[in-house]
Amino acid sequence: MGEEVLQGEIIHDIADASLEIILRFDDEGKILYGNSLAQEELGYGNDWQMLGLEKVFPELHLENESFPLDAAQKMTEGMMYRKNGTCFPVRMKVKGSGGQNLLFAINVAKRVETERKLVRMKEEMEETMKVRNEFVANVTHELRTPVNGIRGHVTNLLENGVTGDVKNTLDIIIRCCDNMSAIINNILDFSKLEAGKFVIEQKEFNFYKMVNHTVETNIPAINAKGLRIMVNIDKTIPEYLIGDELRLTQILNNFLSNAVKFTSVGYINIEVTKTVQFDDEIELFFVVSDTGIGISPEEKDKLFKSFSQVDASITRKYGGTGLGLAITKQLIELMQGSVHLDSEKGKGSSFSFSVRLNMAQKSKEEHTVGEQFEFINQDQEMPGFDNVEKFFQFGTPENVQEIKGKMEKLILCMEVDAWDKAENFAHNIKELLEQAPKDLKRAAFRLEMNVRKGDHDKSVEQYDNLRIMFEEAIGGI
Ligand code: ADP
Repeated sequence: MGEEVLQGEIIHDIADASLEIILRFDDEGKILYGNSLAQEELGYGNDWQMLGLEKVFPELHLENESFPLDAAQKMTEGMMYRKNGTCFPVRMKVKGSGGQNLLFAINVAKRVETERKLVRMKEEMEETMKVRNEFVANVTHELRTPVNGIRGHVTNLLENGVTGDVKNTLDIIIRCCDNMSAIINNILDFSKLEAGKFVIEQKEFNFYKMVNHTVETNIPAINAKGLRIMVNIDKTIPEYLIGDELRLTQILNNFLSNAVKFTSVGYINIEVTKTVQFDDEIELFFVVSDTGIGISPEEKDKLFKSFSQVDASITRKYGGTGLGLAITKQLIELMQGSVHLDSEKGKGSSFSFSVRLNMAQKSKEEHTVGEQFEFINQDQEMPGFDNVEKFFQFGTPENVQEIKGKMEKLILCMEVDAWDKAENFAHNIKELLEQAPKDLKRAAFRLEMNVRKGDHDKSVEQYDNLRIMFEEAIGGI
């Protein structure tokens, strides 16, 4: 007998420590016991006085006039009523056997409220997104019209044979219009991607032509900066693939045009290899590397986020919205790929990414890699990041070649009065001669000063002076 009492006490202690409301009731539905939490939540204290279960659960009483146990056993959720008439939602379970029935319940008011809030927030967010996307679509459309108008009129003026300063100004307006169009397109793409409304097309295209065309569009900028480009494509990649040519071009072009934008000395290299082929599905791995300004580890983290440029001064110097890489990353992910960056500040960057495409029927029949393209498969070695230093070590073949290249560009720009570009080349030359003997360094500095002033005669004089000194110096190495 004493042992039974002890057991009863232990069970009550356990029940009191429970995070659930526990009620024990007899076969008639009369409550015999409630644990601490039940006493607290329902407001009856420890004084149940054979209270009927239907007082706590009126729903039970309504559903089943006679006996509540069967009905209670079927219920998993319900409203529990307090002594003062207020109620709260619960999740519950009823176990019964031989006159000893137990009800376990958890107050889920907070969870229900949170869920309701979440649903409301989701609806509000969806509505905001919808309004925002419509707004972006309308605004970008409205912006495109005047930009195209300006560009068209300026093109007409240029075709009428304007020269000198006016032509320079009009060229700048055209460039601004093109930048503006690119920004408008980026904002529209970004908004669509964010709304999950972006659809990747599946159409047949010639892969080699696509790469060649993308490089071709960047050649004027590459040449203007006196850079070199190498493109190597693994020849086992089929000529015709199925995928979204336009978006793949956009991805490759973003990496390539950034490489051009952020490199002033050296090379840009594109490598494409086939990493996986499973039936018709192919995974391609692209690497776009450059010997440009590079990106530090802290800056890397910000890179693929929207509207982020690693440093505010970048915007002023190079332009852009910082949307390019955020869009590119999402497009790559839509093509079941991923993107990676390997870079060292001051030594260059190497962006790599993979995408999945399908092999086209045509490729299976023809088994050709097609005609050779101008920029593809130039099997030259691209220097690694460690070799980039050689550009700046005075007298190395890399250094001499770079200086000669930049000098050729510089004199051309001076002769056509392109002083902005000339200043960039004069600055590059000064940097490339940083480790040269003092008098050569000084000559490079004077040349940059004169070019900056746009003084043609003095610049040519300094140019000749530097050229002679440079040839003497390298002759002696
Ligand atoms: P944006 O449209 O402004 O060029 P991106 O998203 O394409 O924006 O690039 C974001 C930033 O990443 C650039 O402003 C630049 O700071 C950095 N970046 C991208 N590519 C390179 C690169 N090849 N070398 C150095 N910095 C780069």
